[in-house]
Amino acid sequence: MDNLKCPYENHGQLEKRPLKRQTYEQMYCGDWYDCTYPGCNYSLLIPSEEILKLYAREAKASE
Ligand SMILES: [Zn+2]
Repeated sequence: MDNLKCPYENHGQLEKRPLKRQTYEQMYCGDWYDCTYPGCNYSLLIPSEEILKLYAREAKASE
């Protein structure tokens, strides 16, 4: 996944968060992208396939 941009104007592209800087839970959830613009804390999570499957299963179970 690339070409992800911060929703704020002129902030530019989001950078993939290095695995080193992630907790185990964050890695498990999927890929994290951060805005590198100074002072901007915008980040985006692209859910992993495991998580999406899990969610689909839970949605079915609660029907
Ligand atoms: Zn930003």
